[in-house]
Amino acid sequence: MRKPKIVVVGGGWGGCAAAAAAAKAGAEVTLLERTDMLLGTGLVGGIFRNNGRFTAAEEMLAMGADIFTVMDNCTTHKNVEFPGHKHASLYNVYKIEPAVRSYLTELGVKIMTNARVIDAAKEGNKIRCVVVENVGPVEGDVFVDATGTSAVPANCTKYGNGCAMCILRCHSFGPRISITTKVGVEEWVGKKSDGTVGAMSGSCKLCKDSIDPQIVKELEEKGCVVIPIPESVREEEKLLSMKACQQYALKEFIENLVLLDTGPAKLMVPFFPLERLRKIPGMEKARYEDPIAGGKGNSMRFFGFANCNTHLQAIGPVDNLFCAGEKAGAMVGHTEAIVTGTLAGHNAVRKAIGEKLLELPWELAVGDFVNYVIGEMKKEEGRQYKYTFSGSIYFERMKAKGLYTTDVQVIRERVKKAGLQSIFNTKLV
Ligand SMILES: Cc1cc2nc3c(=O)[nH]c(=O)nc-3n(C[C@H](O)[C@H](O)[C@H](O)COP(=O)(O)OP(=O)(O)OC[C@H]3O[C@@H](n4cnc5c(N)ncnc54)[C@H](O)[C@@H]3O)c2cc1C
Repeated sequence: MRKPKIVVVGGGWGGCAAAAAAAKAGAEVTLLERTDMLLGTGLVGGIFRNNGRFTAAEEMLAMGADIFTVMDNCTTHKNVEFPGHKHASLYNVYKIEPAVRSYLTELGVKIMTNARVIDAAKEGNKIRCVVVENVGPVEGDVFVDATGTSAVPANCTKYGNGCAMCILRCHSFGPRISITTKVGVEEWVGKKSDGTVGAMSGSCKLCKDSIDPQIVKELEEKGCVVIPIPESVREEEKLLSMKACQQYALKEFIENLVLLDTGPAKLMVPFFPLERLRKIPGMEKARYEDPIAGGKGNSMRFFGFANCNTHLQAIGPVDNLFCAGEKAGAMVGHTEAIVTGTLAGHNAVRKAIGEKLLELPWELAVGDFVNYVIGEMKKEEGRQYKYTFSGSIYFERMKAKGLYTTDVQVIRERVKKAGLQSIFNTKLV
């Protein structure tokens, strides 16, 4: 049988996981990324295995999604605790991108960076090709939209505090464009309960060289430092509601600077005005590394989730398109993007060869998560929330259903019982 051609658009965690899963299933895979680096917002993240993300990562590893091993190999701190979060691992954001690139290259994925998709051409109910700016058409049998939900600069101005010069670098590489928009799949915008649109990303990064060396020493030893903020310079409570990451919408993050060591010093707040930040002891010379204007704002996200089903196939005028990462719904996080990316990439191959599509069972935390959130996305009130294994409403559900555990043996048994051991390591072609 001819190897099916799978084209993944967007090289964030969702797209990288989709590309890996499709390659492992035996497809010829091309990954198209708009910028000059893979991992998208994952380039400035780093937290994983915190709270229910531990269970999700271990379930995925038992199913063969060994992209988590790449994360584990770039981890500088394990078992870190910070307010509301237990047993977090922190990957080093400088080491992770080259490591993921090598992993995908070894799997045979053709990676094209500086490859911004600007259009898609249909033939009947199929996408025939996507068009890469200044390059031309790239044909495929099945496509995966993993372009994320970041705002374009005009939306960061309209709904946020303006362009904060974040890692997405829209002015340099051109803004995000979704395939789902281009082919007419219904899209939704995340609206909060007060009607405001989108959400601001929840952390920024400080250059370690600009912070008191004693704080940096403690940060590098422990992975986390919590510094009380004098009341006179505290941020307002309103920041809590702006956040994309509801798992960090706790008052501890307003009363303290919570710093995590991900290479730079990750500051767990969407932004903090520089003049006020510099009034906090040890921060007198603080300077932002990401976003460069981190004293003013951060990237806006949650624009344009696509309507898809629990197989992550887009619902609409084409039948050869799948969605991965935030594109598939208001699911926040690297772990969450890898879960949906892996499923979307695997199902893209099944679709190409006419095999029954896989739905993850409700008995697994990852299955419960995908199936539940996809259902919530169909309701307007469901789109007011962000969903993550690491906190907020989904972690509560996960605990209530007895799906949260850190016992790896229990997790492996669960996957075995579901008959899905190494499913994502199995060649379909
Ligand atoms: C500042 C910040 C910190 C975060 N920290 C953490 C953390 O510590 N832990 C955690 O779990 N989560 C964190 N998150 C959230 C997490 O990064 C995301 O939820 C997740 O990684 C989203 O992955 P994605 O692949 O769906 O989207 P994205 O990361 O947005 O990737 C989409 C990719 O698609 C590309 N793209 C867009 N349009 C096109 C096009 N037309 N053609 C080609 N390519 C295109 C983009 O360039 C980008 O690389 C953080 C997010 C931000 C912004």
